[in-house]
Amino acid sequence: MRNHKVYLIGAGPGRADMITVRGLKILQQADVIIHDYLVDKAALEGLKPGAEIISSERYGKKACHGRSGQAQKKINDLMVKMAKDGRHVARLKNGDTSIFSRISEEIEALEKNKIEFEIVPGVTAASAASSFTGVPLTDRRYSSNVVFVTGHENPDKGIKIDWRRIAGMDTIALYMSSGDISDIAWKLIRSGRPETTAVLAVSNAGAVNQKTAIAALGSIADTVQKNAIKAPAIFIIGKTAGLEKRYNWLRKNRRILFTGLSGERFFLKGTYFHLPLIRIEPLEDYSGFDRYLKNIKMFDWIVFSSRFGVEYFFKRLKELGLDARILNNIKIAAIGNCTSERLLDFTISADLVPKKESSKGLIDEFRELDIKAKKIFLPRSDISDKGLEKEFEKLGAKVTSSFAYRNVMAEGLPDLDLNNFDEIMFTSPSGVRSFINRYGKAPLKVKIACIGDTTKKEALKWGLLG
Ligand code: SAH
Repeated sequence: MRNHKVYLIGAGPGRADMITVRGLKILQQADVIIHDYLVDKAALEGLKPGAEIISSERYGKKACHGRSGQAQKKINDLMVKMAKDGRHVARLKNGDTSIFSRISEEIEALEKNKIEFEIVPGVTAASAASSFTGVPLTDRRYSSNVVFVTGHENPDKGIKIDWRRIAGMDTIALYMSSGDISDIAWKLIRSGRPETTAVLAVSNAGAVNQKTAIAALGSIADTVQKNAIKAPAIFIIGKTAGLEKRYNWLRKNRRILFTGLSGERFFLKGTYFHLPLIRIEPLEDYSGFDRYLKNIKMFDWIVFSSRFGVEYFFKRLKELGLDARILNNIKIAAIGNCTSERLLDFTISADLVPKKESSKGLIDEFRELDIKAKKIFLPRSDISDKGLEKEFEKLGAKVTSSFAYRNVMAEGLPDLDLNNFDEIMFTSPSGVRSFINRYGKAPLKVKIACIGDTTKKEALKWGLLG
């Protein structure tokens, strides 16, 4: 009997790490992921090898949120077909699955076809907008209820939104309304809500390009236009929105745009936004690299200058049916703690880790050793310069450098108002170049921080450092 199970999962809004732990675990076991266009693409990394990713955009950009019943039907059919083919299907929906997400249509399609399913909750956009601005949706003093309303009524539903009832609620969380906010604000005022009621607009809640604006109900439409608040956006209307000035921790914290690949670090001062500017990819052809691995015993030293070098080295070793024992007579050096720690994951304790985390630091320490005529293997990225190689050669060593992975510019980087950050942190020269390529320059008031001398040099070269 084939497994027909489908999971309907809420991905949360704005950023990849808003998904629940349960949702993530299920994604990692799925064969097919059918996702909404609003789902952060970073959520689709680390999936099972060979997993198929299908965006609902295939059926029209906003297939699941628009009014297109046709597109929704195609998604339902696809989900059913994939499950019937015996594949493990995860249907990944933006935010929570139960709020403005047309889940009933998907449930009915599955039920009709007798396909077992489970639903996994997600963080809804109003919760994210609330948390990332510090504005509570309810409050013991000001609000004992909250209503979620869509600005887009379903024309064939037969029921129209009763704005009078909505206007009487303590907190109103408005979805899908950025284009019609002027009209909706007017309807609420006409229904008795004072023009002075506080409104908080949050677009791209939780994302690196989150934008917020605060205004009175009577002037929110102008404010939204002036501040270019665009979809996807949430409006929180009511007394609690007035707490933004005091509670918005994100506005008050030092905001740091961290552009490196390593994961976010919590509990540091300030709020870090992770925007990796580069991506690491495997080479298309490993025949050259593999040849060296098969003959690795001929080398005296292997020098790893990044953790990716370590990762791809051992990946290839495994692929060739070899393991770490082949390295027993070879000395190993690593630049940086990240690199030496990654080596430890493969039970390799590096013989040399320079105190100064740079190529220069490494060469300084090698100068103390006798490496004349020693054979050194350097697994590297496809864009690394020949600096290290030349320095080793000056010391009389015989160097073999080979590409182990590719370093490419990240695609699909979002439009950003860089003035929203206090600091931008670069961790590699390629990150600097990718930044210049996508964003041109940084505002003068934003501090530029660089990790490592070569990164700093590159930032100077492109005029990022004054
Ligand atoms: N199921 C989703 C809602 C889908 S409807 C949820 O529970 O959040 C799409 C609407 O959600 C958008 O028009 C917008 O109002 C809201 N939305 C989704 N992501 C958002 C985000 N990152 N920031 C602000 N609003 C968002």
